[in-house]
Amino acid sequence: MKKMENMTKTFYENLQTQLDELDAAGRLRSLTQTRQEGRYIVRDGQRMLNLASNDYLGLAAEQVLREDFLRKLSPEVFVPSSSSSRLLTGNHPVYDELEETLAALYGTEAALVFNSGYDANSGILPAIADEDTLILADKLVHASLIDGMRLSRARWFRFRHNDVKHLEKLLRGYGRESRRVIIVTESLFSMDGDEAPLRDIARLKQRYPGVLLYVDEAHAFGLRGPRGLGCCEERGIIDEVDLLVGTLGKAAASAGAFVVCRRTMREYLVNHVRPFIFTTALPPIVTAWTLHIVRQLPDMNERRHRLADIVRRVHCALPDEIKTESDGSHIIPLLVGSADEAVRRAIQMQRKGFYVLPVRPPTVPEGTSRLRLSLRADLTDDEVEKLVKALQDLSSTGM
Ligand code: PMP
Repeated sequence: MKKMENMTKTFYENLQTQLDELDAAGRLRSLTQTRQEGRYIVRDGQRMLNLASNDYLGLAAEQVLREDFLRKLSPEVFVPSSSSSRLLTGNHPVYDELEETLAALYGTEAALVFNSGYDANSGILPAIADEDTLILADKLVHASLIDGMRLSRARWFRFRHNDVKHLEKLLRGYGRESRRVIIVTESLFSMDGDEAPLRDIARLKQRYPGVLLYVDEAHAFGLRGPRGLGCCEERGIIDEVDLLVGTLGKAAASAGAFVVCRRTMREYLVNHVRPFIFTTALPPIVTAWTLHIVRQLPDMNERRHRLADIVRRVHCALPDEIKTESDGSHIIPLLVGSADEAVRRAIQMQRKGFYVLPVRPPTVPEGTSRLRLSLRADLTDDEVEKLVKALQDLSSTGM
């Protein structure tokens, strides 16, 4: 008994030591007491414009959309729990409706909804990639995709960020030994805000039969393309993508994720994706809200153009000293270098009323800590001007 107690004590001491080490390295994560009020974040009584969320179109902050939705509500529609996995009793018709709507929008045979983007990415790859599969993923893909690769039995390698030549080299080198190859990339990278060379990747895929393409459009769904379907729509390559994942908790202002794919693939995923099978489905009311938004997204070009205009103005006004990888997107990483410096700069922006957060390792590689600015379509001209001024001040203090 005494021995067990000592082991427990040592275990907790060990955890504490690791937390202390994280703290000393400026990497300790903690939950802050913040409140979202529309476009604002309120913290310690200070109200700041929220430039740290993924509500890029401003839909989550938009009262009118909610009022419209509330008008349609009745106790039959307001189902707050699925009470079960979709494979048991939780398959409310609203899921089918959303999936049919998404498949029709993309012109694909099928769509499948997941509880989150994390579930989709960490679940799909282990389901479809066996030991004879080779996965080639961009170096900077999201943690959920990395976890999906880790959980799979496949061999996997990462190609240099956005480097199609390196991708082809790996494909030629290792592809022969594998029965199946899956290329994995984000379309618009979450931390760098730059876009994958999707057309080149699609062309490469065409030259290598048997290669599948998996694209995560988390940060482009709702935003890019003539109907807001993402970068693949914009680049005209939807037909080349075997698994196109979109998330619903970002520009679409809801929760969950989806994949559009062939019917056979959907059926296979329903039978093999563990985070789909072994989890209670999202509440139908959430999915009804998603549907409410998704149906309107194609017609939201005005918001998309407004965001594009804001993006252009901010990028043009960025002082030369400020380094950013973003090639003109709504995600602007302001590269700072050290974690401490990123924290200091974020506080500087927050004092001016802009809620901007530092992003540090392990989320981004060592030495590339940054402020991640996510622009939103509902900024007023005056706010854009003040933001530009604040960024110029930031650089004049030695960024
Ligand atoms: N993919 C990417 C590229 C992401 O940035 C994120 C979330 N930050 C996810 C997937 C996960 O999506 P969700 O938040 O819906 O789990």
